[in-house]
Amino acid sequence: MLSSQRKRIIDFRDQRDWKQFHDPKNLAEAIIIEAGELLENFLWKTTEESRNLPSDTVTAIGEEIADIAIFVAMIAHEMDLDL
Ligand SMILES: [Mg+2]
Repeated sequence: MLSSQRKRIIDFRDQRDWKQFHDPKNLAEAIIIEAGELLENFLWKTTEESRNLPSDTVTAIGEEIADIAIFVAMIAHEMDLDL
């Protein structure tokens, strides 16, 4: 993730005073929870169906991937890791 994107995410968090909730353990849990939300979009679908999803489902999947990416950026920031 680009440092400019990471900065935007951290600024967004800090403007809402959410840092107090974003310790590494909570962020790791959040990544798994969001990954579950991503996976829910594929529940009971075949491989072929997963390649031909309706557009609203694809949009929802994009939102869950964004949630995961944001929490990955946050935990990397909190642990001073350069991905
Ligand atoms: Mg989500």
